[in-house]
Amino acid sequence: MTMIGTEELKSLFARIAEAMASEKDRLCELDGVIGDADHGIAMELGFAAAAKAVLELDPMAADPTLVFNTAAKSFLNAVGASSGPLYATALMRAGAVSKGKASLSDDDMVEIFSAFAKGIQDRGKAEVGEKTMVDAWAPAAVACRAARDQGLPLAECLAVGLKAGAAGAEATKDMIAAKGRSSRLGDRALGHMDPGAASAVLVISCFRDHFK
Ligand code: ADP
Ligand code: MG
Repeated sequence: MTMIGTEELKSLFARIAEAMASEKDRLCELDGVIGDADHGIAMELGFAAAAKAVLELDPMAADPTLVFNTAAKSFLNAVGASSGPLYATALMRAGAVSKGKASLSDDDMVEIFSAFAKGIQDRGKAEVGEKTMVDAWAPAAVACRAARDQGLPLAECLAVGLKAGAAGAEATKDMIAAKGRSSRLGDRALGHMDPGAASAVLVISCFRDHFK
């Protein structure tokens, strides 16, 4: 088992920021259909700000909690859309899981993955089936945890989580939104994937790729 330190977390944020930049247009297009077309911009701005802020942390002084808390603050300051407080809460929860640890174990990473999902759910009060990013995050976290309980290594747990998250995002196409901007559309939202669920799959795939 390898321990995950602050430098590795910094490069995880750089990876997510890169993914959001390259998928920005697709996320804006998805949001354009059932929202206000800014989701790609929000996610790119948020993770770019987070990646930049954590990169600037002193490697000698920063622990994983400081990395996640710094990312949370920067994300919140950079994003005016509803994804801002949702991901900021996810990142703060990751910081709380890391508290007092100089580096993170595979079990800690699984815990952090669950804390992300729980933070988003607690903050936005959305349940599975309401056509939000929770439809990707919640099943991903459950599947990841279940895989870990069966003794699978972190990389496989994240791969299982990604598969469940992608299936959850796909399922949002058949949902009517009950939370967020698209809830005003009623059944006109049918047939379209929720942009927040789509970006959640991207974030999860960055986790998977990073810990391969
Ligand atoms: P805004 O709707 O303010 O423009 P974004 O476009 O950045 O914000 O994000 C939209 C996404 O936010 C939606 O696709 C949905 O996944 C997610 N979302 C909105 N409200 C909630 C909520 N209460 N709980 C979880 N996710 C939500
Ligand atoms: Mg939007």
